[in-house]
Formats: sequence, structure tokens, C-alpha cells
Amino acid sequence: MILYDFVCTDGHDFEALIASMSDDAPSCPVCQAPSRRRLARLNIGGRADTGVSRDQMPRSWTQTGAGDRETIRHWHEVAAKREKLEERHPELAGDRRPILAHEGIFARKPLRAGDDIAAAVRDASSPTQSDTHKDKQQQ
Ligand SMILES: [Zn+2]
Repeated sequence: MILYDFVCTDGHDFEALIASMSDDAPSCPVCQAPSRRRLARLNIGGRADTGVSRDQMPRSWTQTGAGDRETIRHWHEVAAKREKLEERHPELAGDRRPILAHEGIFARKPLRAGDDIAAAVRDASSPTQSDTHKDKQQQ
């Protein structure tokens, strides 16, 4: 079964599982109008293009080109698409805890609400030894 996006003649967007690409498009679950398949963005069991993850999105003013309108619009659209994707596939959402710090020593791994701050600082300031620290703590 493959998950496809469909759009009906009335413009309702919906998803449906069909056995193969050659199957007829299902009728719209809202208005029963005929539908057509949209360009596949994601399917089950195949290679899924999940787009840009949240960690790849800009978090600071300079990363948005100092507030460049086109850049901000672009990222806004990317974020909106990501939002929709995560609604349907919550497992892609990843760590959604608020980021408390993401600059300086936290540039590599942001500090998030709920993190052990002392441990995070130690990890961030000695990245080469962080794994050793973790192993010791777990024993
Ligand atoms: Zn419809």
C-alpha cells in the first residue's frame, strides 16, 4: 500500500492508501467528488523526502539574512510545510522542547528546557570527552 495525496475537483485535500499507482483515485471523503493524485511528496515504504528539519532552520537574525523579506518568506513556507508533515507524522517532529540557548558553547547542540544544565555545559565545553562522561554517569 502506498500513501498518496489527492485533491478532489472541489479542492479538498486528502490522503489515501492505494495498492498501486495504476489504481483509480478514490472519491473525496468529504464531498464524494472524483479526485486526482497530487505529486507524491511522501510514501510509506519508499524513500521519504521529509524536507528540512527544524534543526536546519534559521534561529537567529543573521541566519535570516538580517531580516531579508524573501529569505524570511522562504523559511516561513518551509516551516509551514514542516508543521503539516509533523502533524501527520509526529515521529518526525523530534525534540520540540523550547531551546534556551543555541549560541556560543551551545552552537553545536542547543540547550533545551529540561536539560541538566551542568551536564549540558560540561558536554558542550568538552565535546571530545562528552561520550566518556556519559558512560561514567550511566554506570
Ligand atoms: Zn471534495
